[in-house]
Amino acid sequence: MTADNNNSMQSQGLYVWQADNLLAATAALNGHWQLGDGQKVIEQGNSYIEVTSCRIATDTRAIEAGDIFLAINGDNFDGHDYIDTAVTQGAIAVIVSRPISTSAPQLVVSDTRLALGQLAAYRRQQHPDLTVIAITGSSGKTTCKEMLGSIFNRLAPTLITRGNLNNDFGVPMMMLELSDQHRYAILELGANHIGEIAYTAELVRPDVACILNIGTAHLGEFGSREGICQTKAEIFHTLSDEQYAIVPDTDDYAKQLRQIAATHTSHVLGFGTSDVTASDINIKPEGSEFTLHIGTDKREISLPLAGEHNINNALAAAACAYALNIDIDDIGVGLENARPAKGRLNSQTLGMHHLIDDTYNANPHSVRAATKVLAAQTGTQIMVLGDIGELGEAAVSEHHNLGRTIAGTSIDMLLCVGEYAHHSVAGAQAVGGINAQAFNDKVSLLQYLQPYLQAQQAQPCTVLFKGSRSMKMETLIDALVKE
Ligand code: ATP
Ligand code: MG
Repeated sequence: MTADNNNSMQSQGLYVWQADNLLAATAALNGHWQLGDGQKVIEQGNSYIEVTSCRIATDTRAIEAGDIFLAINGDNFDGHDYIDTAVTQGAIAVIVSRPISTSAPQLVVSDTRLALGQLAAYRRQQHPDLTVIAITGSSGKTTCKEMLGSIFNRLAPTLITRGNLNNDFGVPMMMLELSDQHRYAILELGANHIGEIAYTAELVRPDVACILNIGTAHLGEFGSREGICQTKAEIFHTLSDEQYAIVPDTDDYAKQLRQIAATHTSHVLGFGTSDVTASDINIKPEGSEFTLHIGTDKREISLPLAGEHNINNALAAAACAYALNIDIDDIGVGLENARPAKGRLNSQTLGMHHLIDDTYNANPHSVRAATKVLAAQTGTQIMVLGDIGELGEAAVSEHHNLGRTIAGTSIDMLLCVGEYAHHSVAGAQAVGGINAQAFNDKVSLLQYLQPYLQAQQAQPCTVLFKGSRSMKMETLIDALVKE
């Protein structure tokens, strides 16, 4: 394939590069399309257009002068509709999957999403000395990533997944933020469908690949926990013998994960009960203290993140760092300076009451973790629970079981909202010993909770809010705090 004959064409007065994918186009351009931080040159017919850019943007709101705009076709939008905006805002070239009328040079590829992936893979290949840690699991990825970020950022420039950019679109976007100064990259890989982690792991080629746990998130998509286990284990697929797999020791699927990892590398480290462990655990309402053991080394840790599950996340982070020969003191300082990401068990006060915001998202696994955190709090314990989505046929039984679990703890009150609210409440009432109520919507829940808290002047309450992202449970906290 060459750029200047069969694959380039005249369109609205412009030469348009037509290629199956961007790397083919790069090859066709005889390496003129350089994806380092330096110049990029797009060859146009016999003339050259110099394009100096080191950023590829997919969101016109984030475009800066000099960027290249890549048009993505999403579920609710088509980036090709925003080419003019992108160019007006300073994009100097565009990558598209169909020719567009624009004054900017454009590269036409068959699928811009795949082109984005290939650009990311290319960027990774250009940085062979970069050390990549990739994390997956049903719960705790973002939290563990923040902990690792806190450990590694102190030591050397580190690229850390921003927010939750963990899918087959977000991961390549993050890789494109890689620059020559980065020594480490800490990347969160999520899975909404089978093969997604195989795809993103292939792009980022981890040196250390960690699975935190196998829960029941997206059970509807994967059919069974076994299916979830296989899907998460895709993160090990690219590992070779000099690289590390990190596995949980206490998970139901620990044995399977270790077996799968061992088919790729002999370097398999476990956290929980084997290579990296915690002893003398003291769980406090706002965090935990424990002794971290790594091999024969040990160190006291004061972890500023609430919940027993965060000790597990910390052990996973410590195991990843240990695989890369990081000193236990550096690991300890990093863990002690880690902060929870927004909506993950952040605390605030409301008068004499205490509100815990765990509204970022929910699956049955993380609701159980949050239940334990609430049950460790002082005062009247109130759980405000919104529906958990993406459970497929298991939705009714999962909500029922969660109600049972919550009622089986010291939690005093369970207030549920959403389509499945009455199933959680029925589960709780089957166990008893708890005031459990279902509400049709958040407004009616608020109308109950607000006066209740106002009336409890002698008795401080701790209220934990949780639910799937679609439930936006944080609006209840906002409403309470505003009053
Ligand atoms: P997502 O799949 O949405 O990206 P995530 O895996 O990145 O989620 P976090 O954002 O770190 O997970 O945490 C989400 C919630 O999961 C937390 O608020 C907490 O309630 C719960 N959680 C975190 N870590 C664990 C864990 N190790 N085990 C169980 N639950 C956990
Ligand atoms: Mg996340």
